[in-house]
Formats: sequence, C-alpha cells, structure tokens
Amino acid sequence: MESEMETHVVLLSSPGLGHLTPVLELSKRLATLSNSKVTIFVVPSLSAAESQVIQSFMSLNLCRIILLPPPDISHLVHADAAVVTRIVVIMREIKPAFSSAVSALSVPPTLFIVDLFGYESMDFADQFKIPKFVYIPSHAGFLALTLYLPVLDEVVKGEYVDEKDALLIPGCRPLQLEDVVDPMLCRSDQQYLEYLNMGIKIPMADGILLNTWEELEPATLAALRDDKLWGGISKAPIYPVGPMVTTPNRPIDSNKSEMFLWLDKQPSESVLYISFGSGGILTKEQMRELALGLELSQQRFIWVVRTPVVAKSCDGSFFTVGNDCNDERLASYLPEGFLDWSNNMGLIISDWAPQVEILRHQSVGGFLSHCGWNSTLESITHGVPLIAWPLYAEQRMNATLLVEELKIAVRSKTLPSKEIVGREEIKLMVKRLMVDEEGHTMRARVKQFKLSGEKAWNHNGSSFKALAQLMR
Ligand code: UDP
Repeated sequence: MESEMETHVVLLSSPGLGHLTPVLELSKRLATLSNSKVTIFVVPSLSAAESQVIQSFMSLNLCRIILLPPPDISHLVHADAAVVTRIVVIMREIKPAFSSAVSALSVPPTLFIVDLFGYESMDFADQFKIPKFVYIPSHAGFLALTLYLPVLDEVVKGEYVDEKDALLIPGCRPLQLEDVVDPMLCRSDQQYLEYLNMGIKIPMADGILLNTWEELEPATLAALRDDKLWGGISKAPIYPVGPMVTTPNRPIDSNKSEMFLWLDKQPSESVLYISFGSGGILTKEQMRELALGLELSQQRFIWVVRTPVVAKSCDGSFFTVGNDCNDERLASYLPEGFLDWSNNMGLIISDWAPQVEILRHQSVGGFLSHCGWNSTLESITHGVPLIAWPLYAEQRMNATLLVEELKIAVRSKTLPSKEIVGREEIKLMVKRLMVDEEGHTMRARVKQFKLSGEKAWNHNGSSFKALAQLMR
C-alpha cells in the first residue's frame, strides 16, 4: 500500500454468527493495527443474537457496517435445501446490491476480503484493480480439503462415503470417511456442487486468510506451502491470522447475573459448559440421554437447551429467529426428576447464553461442544478442554483435529450426527474430562495452546506478522 491513510479495506460477510464473528474480529484488527479505513458489508440473518452482535460492534465506532437486506430465495431453493446451499444462493443473489453499494462508496476500496461463502463476489476487485482475498473462518485442514476437492472429484467415482479407504490429501492426515464434510455426503446434492466451486475458485484469490495460527497446525500449514505438493493446485499465499475470537465489550446484563453469581460459588474448573452453537439442536431422545448421562456423572454443568427436533436434524435452527424453549416446555423435554437434581448441580439456560463470558469464568473446566470452529477457538483461547460432539458442516473434521492431533478433547465412539449417544457413554466422557487424570492432562495441554494463541498476536507473533504482511 502506498500510504496507510489511503487504505480502505472492504469486507463481505455471509449470514450466520459463525461467519460474522470472525469477520468482525478481523475488521477490528485491521482497523486498529493498520490504521486503515474498514467497511464491512453484512448480509444479516434473522437471528436476534446476530443483531445484538452487530449493534454492539457498531457502538465501537471502529469500522463502518453496511447491511445488505437478505434477498428472498424461496423461489430458488427447495424448502429443505441444505444450509450451505441456502447461504451460497443468498450470497449469489446479493451480488448486484453489493456491487452498486461498493461502487457508491465515497472512498474507493483498495483491498477486498470476502468470506468463504462470498467467494463469487471476489471478482469485483478486478473492476477496481485491487487485491482480493478470501477469508476462511476455519482451520488449515479444512482449507486443504476444500482446495483438494476438485482433484478428488476427478479421481473418486462414486460417493466418498462408499470408498474403501480414507481420503488422501497431500501432506495432511488421511481424512476418515466418517469425517467428510456435509456437502460431500451426497454428490448429487446442490451443496456438493457449490462446495466444489469454492474449491475451484478460491485458489484464484491473491491470498487466503485462515482463522488458525502457525503453532496450532504447523504440519498442515507447512504442507500447504510446499510447492511440490500443492503448487499444481493452489499458489495463493496463506495467511494464518488467528485466533480471532469474540472479545466481549458489553457488561453482563442483570438477567444473566444470576448465572454468574452461581458460577462464582462453584469450585475452580468444576463446571461443564454444554452448547451446540448457533444452530445445533438435539432430538428429544438425545436430550433425555444427555440429561441422564449428566445425572449419572454427578458433575456440575451449565446447559444451553433448545426445543428438540422430532426427526434427525442437526442444524435446524440456523435460519430461525429464536427458540421458544420456555421453562415450562423445557421440563416436558427432560427426564422426570432431572430438574430437581440439577437444582443443586447445574443451570439450564434456554436457547442462548453469553458463551465467551462463561468460558472465561474460572469455575468452567470443560466444554461439551458441537465443535463449530468459533466455539472450538473460544474454548482453546480460554484454556478449556472439550467433549467433542460434532453435528454438521465440517465439525466431524474439527473433532478429529481436537482429539487425535491436538489431544485436548474426548469424544464418543457413537457418532452423534448419526446415532443416539447413550447415557452410560456420556457419563464416561464427562468423568474422563472433568474428574480423571486424562482430563487434567488435556487441561494442561490446552493451556499451552492458549498461550501460543496469545503469542501469535503479540507484537512480532506469527498472526500479527501475517496480517501486517497482507497489508503491506
Ligand atoms: N454462541 C453464543 N451463545 C450460544 C450459542 C452460540 O454466544 O448460546 C456463539 C459462540 O460463542 C460462537 C458462535 O455463537 O461464537 C457459534 O459459532 P460456531 O462456529 O461455534 O458454530 P455455528 O453456530 O456456526 O455452528
């Protein structure tokens, strides 16, 4: 960049907190570190939590946020279309509005960053003759799979899940078939074709930003930069700029203070926090087993509960406004006597909780999580080990990274996205994490990663330098 003051970074975020949060955090860093003007275009979903996050970010006055009203896509997708399909179609339909809004900016953009699902808007950068970047709010292993998909698409003939062996991705751990991401489960589904397109188009960016850091995934990052392994697939430079996690800037409201008063009274690192992200829901049967497993474990907990789904659907609340899980209805979903037992041992929070504030409380010692990447990073950056309970998207891959590579999580043999995890298995996992020596070892290990994440953002840390390099 010729002069810092002339720099104007324009970012585009797709709907959903899981995408918006890392884009906002990246924008914050760009505005504060590089003294750049930053404008974020946001396609909001209907979620109340998301509106609150946007409002609170606006009050910082660091960057300008421009909301692009979500287009009506009901005539373009089936009612039961996958979340990935819906988001990609929304982002495709928003292109004309986005293009005119960017053209109307009084200060022309000098750098363009789109998130994963906004990749089709990347080419607007060519009109302004400015560099274009894609921000993947996930880890290096996920990027490797995405970039390698066009090759797999040529080589593998049938369904990926019907292959005999794990999928081999250059320089990476073999991808077990049960870990393939949702869009790869059925090749005739539109979400597969959309995901494949991402793999084809993303290498055309001038660079790829990742929400990970060098010290978290050294081997995969080194492999991705190995020209002999990846040169023929993608030459786009990779910028690991993580961990980008929410830094709460609002006081804990009085409604929630009861929960924090309760947390204050619990022994250090004794409480298991349970949440399935912004979209995860369990079946009624799974909710019952989880409640009974908790009771058998006799461990303290905070559980964010949503109205269960009748059929097997994991990401059902992603596009809904809120959940109608009031206290009376809650009782009807939980086993008899559970609320009495939990009176002393835990708290049940309906629908939504201030997750980061909870994770940073010293009484919290474990997180039973659906392994969305934001939740994963929030856990790591607060030194909290996990029970991995992957449900949808790329969460099974994330769970394997946590359990097998980083060794900071336990998981069930039963795959929660396929079958019901029984109470006995739940009890064992909770005890392994919260009581056993194994859990203590994981807690010590995750604290090392917490430190390395902090170092990555020190002056001269790897992520700090990566972002500075990108802005040069
Ligand atoms: N979240 C929260 N309270 C809740 C549930 C989720 O604050 O009760 C936040 C969480 O802190 C994270 C985001 O919502 O930042 C969820 O993102 P993630 O990538 O973990 O999962 P997704 O919702 O995209 O599946």
